[in-house]
Amino acid sequence: MFYGFDRYYFILVVPALIIAGWAQMKVSTTFSTYSRMPVGNRMTGADAARFILDMNGLTNVRVERIAGKLTDNYNPTDRVVRLSDSVYGSATIAAVGVAAHECGHAVQHATGYAPLKLRTAIIPATQIGSTLAVPMIFLGILMSSDPLVNIGILLFSLMTVFQLVTLPVEFNASARAVATLSGHGMVNAEEERGVKKVLSAAALTYVAALLVSAMQLLRLVLIAGRRNDR
Ligand SMILES: [Zn+2]
Repeated sequence: MFYGFDRYYFILVVPALIIAGWAQMKVSTTFSTYSRMPVGNRMTGADAARFILDMNGLTNVRVERIAGKLTDNYNPTDRVVRLSDSVYGSATIAAVGVAAHECGHAVQHATGYAPLKLRTAIIPATQIGSTLAVPMIFLGILMSSDPLVNIGILLFSLMTVFQLVTLPVEFNASARAVATLSGHGMVNAEEERGVKKVLSAAALTYVAALLVSAMQLLRLVLIAGRRNDR
């Protein structure tokens, strides 16, 4: 009953998964659309990233190319902004938007932005949670052990907290990106609207991920609660 498809799964988790799938499609199509629109100043994603990093005094943060689609990221351990093939060498609205967003994370890291620190701090706990939470709850129900069930739910809720803390980090990186690009004349007003659309679509996937996690948590709480009614 636990790993299977109980009614809570259909009522709570399935709708959230559908929304998440729609958000993924939306980011993919929006990115494709603005990947075909060149920016007036001919700056590639890599050029834009280098410019923004240097402007913020982050000359020691490297910009590298990474394989894949929408695999762009900032790695705080290596201090590298990694840009995917269609961002790194492309002078498009989508490319400079994504590049500026990843630089936003580098600036957050350099300035000690609190939500990013919190997010980084809870990563080890969420890794434990993602492997142990569900088996613990399952075992706890089998053994009628309330502490085991409760610890399992607590571990799972850490993953939901992680998704929640991700939101300010992502929204803030995008806000920094738009402010920098338009504030330094790297995009014009029309291009700025495109950048906002690309970054809003990306932000939507993080909201959807939070929704999926919250619904999974609610499902586990309801399943755990139901066993006491028997
Ligand atoms: Zn981001």
